[in-house]
Amino acid sequence: MGSRGWAGVSLGVLVLAIGVVAWVRVPWAAPPAPRADQLAALQGLPAAAVARGREFHAALRPGSYGSLGLGLIVALVLGLTPIGARLVALAGRPFGGNWLAEALLGGFLLVIIGEVVTLPLAAWQEVILRRYGLSTQTWAGWTVDLLKGFAVGAVVGAIVLVGFFGVARLAPRTWWVYLGLGAAGLTVLMSFVYPVLVEPVFNRFTPMPAGALRDDLMGMAERDGVPVRDVLVADASRRTNALNAYVSGLGPTRRIVVYDTLLRDAPPAEVQAVVAHELGHAKEGDVFTGTAIGALGAAAAVCGLYLLGGWAGLLRRAGVDSIASPRAVGLLLALTAIASLVAMPLQNGLSRLIEARADHHALTVTGDPSTVETMEGRLGTGNLADVDPPRWEYLLFASHPSIVERMAAARAYARGER
Ligand SMILES: [Zn+2]
Repeated sequence: MGSRGWAGVSLGVLVLAIGVVAWVRVPWAAPPAPRADQLAALQGLPAAAVARGREFHAALRPGSYGSLGLGLIVALVLGLTPIGARLVALAGRPFGGNWLAEALLGGFLLVIIGEVVTLPLAAWQEVILRRYGLSTQTWAGWTVDLLKGFAVGAVVGAIVLVGFFGVARLAPRTWWVYLGLGAAGLTVLMSFVYPVLVEPVFNRFTPMPAGALRDDLMGMAERDGVPVRDVLVADASRRTNALNAYVSGLGPTRRIVVYDTLLRDAPPAEVQAVVAHELGHAKEGDVFTGTAIGALGAAAAVCGLYLLGGWAGLLRRAGVDSIASPRAVGLLLALTAIASLVAMPLQNGLSRLIEARADHHALTVTGDPSTVETMEGRLGTGNLADVDPPRWEYLLFASHPSIVERMAAARAYARGER
């Protein structure tokens, strides 16, 4: 069996492994709470807040879908026509067509084109966020965030570009083995270092001040059997009025973070319900599950790229002679864009199941479904969520169950049904 055969077998094994991890680690047998409960929960929310959330999302939609569509069109034009390859050659010309210059400058040029084209839509989104009082940023702050995002992207992008094309040059037949392992390794590494290297670029994190709430949260974590060194507070209010909390990191870098906005706007019992949800993620190792699926997916993508590299028609269309040459960076970006778009609804479907389990954890740990339901309602109205979104949008884009589903789950739990 040749290299292509092995790459095909590896791709099959990796896809199977993703299926196994998802099968074992994702809670499949938990359908959403009855629609009747959802409608009752919807009735219980202030009608004006529900309408405002719908209106806000209707205002955001043209920009968000426009940006998604435009980004995809740019990627396809640069990757599935010779335009991308020509631009990469142009970027490398002052350096005599050196591969490193083509990989880095060409790669950055194509990514920046995509960013610049969608930038006006991003600014429009920000205008809407401000109009509805969700964003607290100035344009200066917004621009600094944008530049910080580019800087982080440039560092990670440089590692990926130099690593990919460098290894592909050294091992023209077997690069998919090394790069598949490298992509998986980088995904795991990113999960570890993200909370300590990337998150502090955007926010300041301080340990929650000593007091009754902190004692209650730490006590709850201990009863729950989840070792938590500290609960960190992020200065999210510099950017947003949205309420949130999350778990990130793995092993020594694992942390539970709450937004300062949550502490400002929600009563302590609801903060506790939010942290109970996050403890659910920590207890079930959901960051590990996501990282494992991500790492296997990254390795599978590399095998897939290697196999697609044998498709002469595709290479001809992109104006390149090899998928592993820096001139093919546009083609790689286009294929990545298509793959992410296809993977998104699948990822979101898994995420919703995992989030529903964390919600259930919050119910069992607090034993207080009424507070959990009030908290979900506060997150919904406070964040201007579309609390009961259109079905198609939910299936494609929602990473969490809808607010009315989450409230309904608390109602069903209160009746002893779950
Ligand atoms: Zn969650």
